[in-house]
Amino acid sequence: MLSYQHAFHAGNHADVIKHLSWMGVLNHLKKKNKPFTLFDTHSGAGEYDLGDELASKNKEFESGVVKIASVATTDDLLSEYIALCQSFLAENKYMGSPLLSAMLKRDMDSAHLMELHPGEYEKLCRAINPRKFSACHLHHRDGFEGLKALTPPKPNRGAILIDPPYERIEEYTDVVNAIERVLGRWKQAHIVLWYPLLSARAEKKAEASLVMREQLAELGIPCFKAELEVVENTPDSGMYGSGVFVLNPPWQLDVNVSKAITEIVPYLGDNAHFSLDWVVDDQ
Ligand code: SAM
Repeated sequence: MLSYQHAFHAGNHADVIKHLSWMGVLNHLKKKNKPFTLFDTHSGAGEYDLGDELASKNKEFESGVVKIASVATTDDLLSEYIALCQSFLAENKYMGSPLLSAMLKRDMDSAHLMELHPGEYEKLCRAINPRKFSACHLHHRDGFEGLKALTPPKPNRGAILIDPPYERIEEYTDVVNAIERVLGRWKQAHIVLWYPLLSARAEKKAEASLVMREQLAELGIPCFKAELEVVENTPDSGMYGSGVFVLNPPWQLDVNVSKAITEIVPYLGDNAHFSLDWVVDDQ
């Protein structure tokens, strides 16, 4: 079953925490004059037209990027993200994670961008034009299988973004298996995993998500979780926020993400709340 289409959610609060965190990782990797490789296991379409039928159905971007796009800030990570949002919003668009990777990586770096849905893959190919973006490898394949086949990269500096739709409850265990497998071969990979925060209405998935995070913690790798809640967690609220679980976080990513998101929380509504907690401490 591949019915999820990210266009319905493009630019929402979940994209904000995920994309800011991913940019924080890229900024860290770019500090050294050495090449790195990025992996995006669930790329989506790459670029979203906020005026199209799907994005304008629930206009989720209005309670996400639109709310923060004019925040004045001196924070480096946040100002870089806001500047990008502004340039895309000026054309009524929003950028997906693979486009962020393609735009922000340097020519010496490479990116493997995977997407399984045929229609989304076609859009991804249009968004990431190889004539414009060097060393971006587009793959029409299962991201978990692709991660296994393509890692470790040489040289082994790099990062992985895992952003499944969690349509199927099995995806929570697929994530744990994929991360365990990749860390067995590429111990120092920086990994950013996005996950939804779900109310009691989605009890089984909420439980599976918790178990996923507990199993990841048991791997014993330094990791933190950062969560952005936007509405109150009542039994019926559905997805009341989301988080990123970061394994092998780059130095100071926790500080940089906290600073950036704490600044925008007041713009995201009265019930918005951000927290960041180390799950396994960095020794
Ligand atoms: N990461 C994107 C971003 O931030 O712009 C959004 C990705 S969206 C949440 C999840 C995507 O994963 C969907 O486009 C879906 O078609 C794709 N997908 C679902 N199962 C997949 C799999 N096993 N391998 C690769 N892609 C998959």
